[in-house]
Amino acid sequence: MGRLSTLFAPERVAVIGATDSEGSVGRAITSNLLESFDGDVVAVNPYKDDVLGLRCYDEVADVEGEGIDVAVVVVPPDVAVEAIRDAGAAGIGNVVVITAGFGETGSEGAARERDLREAAEEYDLNLVGPNSLGVMSTPRGLNATFGNEMATEGDISFMSQSGAFVTAVLDWAAERDVGFKDIVSLGNKAILDEDDFIAEWGDDPETEVILGYLEDINDGEAFVQTAREVTQETPIVLVKSGRTDAGASAAASHTGAMAGSERAYEAGLEQAGTLRVESVQELFDFAQILSGQPLPDGEEIAIVTNAGGPGVMTTDAVGDSDLSLSSFEDETLDALRETMPEEANIYNPVDIIGDAPAERFEAALSTVLEDDNVAMAVVVACPTAVLSFEELAEVVVSQQRAHETPIATTLMGGKSVGAGRDILSEAGIPNYFDPARAVESLDALREYDEIQSREYEEPAAFDVDRERAREILESAARRDTNRLGVEAMELLDAYGIPTPAGGVVSSPTEAEELAEDIGDDVVMKIVSPDILHKSDIGGVEVGVPPEEVRDTYEDLVVRARNYQRDAAILGVQVQEMVDLDSGTETILGMNRDPQFGPLLLFGLGGIFVEVLEDNTVRVAPVSESDARGMLDDIESAPLLRGARGRDPVDEDALVEAVQRLSQLVTDFPAIVELDINPLVATPDGVQAVDLRLTIDQEEL
Ligand code: ADP
Ligand code: MG
Repeated sequence: MGRLSTLFAPERVAVIGATDSEGSVGRAITSNLLESFDGDVVAVNPYKDDVLGLRCYDEVADVEGEGIDVAVVVVPPDVAVEAIRDAGAAGIGNVVVITAGFGETGSEGAARERDLREAAEEYDLNLVGPNSLGVMSTPRGLNATFGNEMATEGDISFMSQSGAFVTAVLDWAAERDVGFKDIVSLGNKAILDEDDFIAEWGDDPETEVILGYLEDINDGEAFVQTAREVTQETPIVLVKSGRTDAGASAAASHTGAMAGSERAYEAGLEQAGTLRVESVQELFDFAQILSGQPLPDGEEIAIVTNAGGPGVMTTDAVGDSDLSLSSFEDETLDALRETMPEEANIYNPVDIIGDAPAERFEAALSTVLEDDNVAMAVVVACPTAVLSFEELAEVVVSQQRAHETPIATTLMGGKSVGAGRDILSEAGIPNYFDPARAVESLDALREYDEIQSREYEEPAAFDVDRERAREILESAARRDTNRLGVEAMELLDAYGIPTPAGGVVSSPTEAEELAEDIGDDVVMKIVSPDILHKSDIGGVEVGVPPEEVRDTYEDLVVRARNYQRDAAILGVQVQEMVDLDSGTETILGMNRDPQFGPLLLFGLGGIFVEVLEDNTVRVAPVSESDARGMLDDIESAPLLRGARGRDPVDEDALVEAVQRLSQLVTDFPAIVELDINPLVATPDGVQAVDLRLTIDQEEL
């Protein structure tokens, strides 16, 4: 049992601020507790003698008898922190703060929330809220909320950042036989957050599926860690709303502009092994099938139907999913040929035609479920005079049990479906009107099966020169600038990301000398913190022959001055040429997300990067297989892998560069955003040709 087990299964609950005034939250909570809780309820309120038949104590300290496990705080905001201290001092370990008027209300509230957090930390309280609707747990009949409905018992545990959403879901669930184990309204998440409840329910044998409605995630890194472990045993399905894209508009890099917080969530939730859904409908569809059906052995699905049209719709839905239609073994086809009428279609989707009674469904199902190429099945039926949905439901249940293969059904109809649906639901088989939902739910089972079989690798730790990297960042800070460009290329060298030979010089003569050392045509670029996109202002000259180096130096400076008279110019970079003919320009970058931390971006690069937008993101640190997965993700992957007779680029070198950048940005939180654009990938390796980063000096 986890740390929060007494929060959900207390013996004794105190309501601090209990009252009987009509329409008050204090009354709703007290009466909800009295109604169904099989433990002891204690009322505390210095202004009352008794509340709803309970004797009322002035303070928790006065309560005699066995200890109180949970205090529910409903007092006004100005005395709430004091009430929490009293509860802590009385030795109560769990506190649910219903009171609102904290961080959600402005600066005074924010200050109050800091005090509350301090009090909770002082007494090491498991504190829910503030601004919470409360908590529920069905095994003990605990309803410590001010909602107007108690959940029915089940194996889903649910957390919600919106209290209103809890009441809506309860109302919705009551109509649909959806039962719960625990429910918590997270409120402002001052102490306990999604992380804690995921960990708790991961340890709870009575919770089969964890559901969440989240608006943000307190600590992305901790979340990913916890969720990864829990999802090995218990699926987590989340609706995440409240898309905040703050920061994206202020981004100074391509990565910053493209890798906003919405993508961070998407990547973080996926890397954490959670299933993300877009609607309440899907949330519960997935919960139902995950708790009711076994996981599939593969991704092939069989469709058995008595109706051509719906069979086609189902096939289309399979096409839209990551499932594939089973192709049957010869024995299966032979058996179907023997038992089905001649007009039937024995190939998948199996259409056993309109006059099929339940027995024909049974014969077809028992045959296809024997097939090794069938990992799951969907039964699609329209009402006819010869088909009883009740009998069909019995058939599906017994076939599902006998084969232990996941099944979803689509009994298409209204009033004729009722009894059949009840039989199915009793057996944990979800039924939908719409075949697409049945297929999506089965696809969620497949996805969860894939998540469970994931093996998480540790990120590699390369031998790097961390000290040198720190010096470079610190020297930039001393120059009092947050923006660094190619003058900081050595940062990449320190972390083993290859760069072409070259350097930054501050006179035409030095430029000539350096070009001579390089010994070939060179690339020259203006170096200025005021010029973000060098080629946009003519600040990059490619293929400069030795005799033109001097003039080019002067030209570049003039162009920079024309662009911005007072631009700070650090000099000109003279760089070895990289062979772009055999290479592909990619982008490798990072943007720091407020919740998930460093978000790596990899994709097609060069000057059209934001036009083509072919890229993918991962939360760092990444392992080798994560890095390789980034390559697989992008649409231009075939280009890198040798499409149209080109030589494939050195994929291992790319994967290593991604991991090395991951290590750099993990080691230095001071790096806020960073672009290597382009990182030129060739058959012989990679070369970081350009660099731009922003640092936060306070983090250094
Ligand atoms: P910016 O992105 O600020 O315009 P870059 O340094 O990325 O400046 O240069 C712009 C383009 O010039 C690159 O995308 C690449 O096509 C080309 N380029 C830059 N450096 C080199 C190099 N060393 N070798 C070959 N081409 C280069
Ligand atoms: Mg560039």
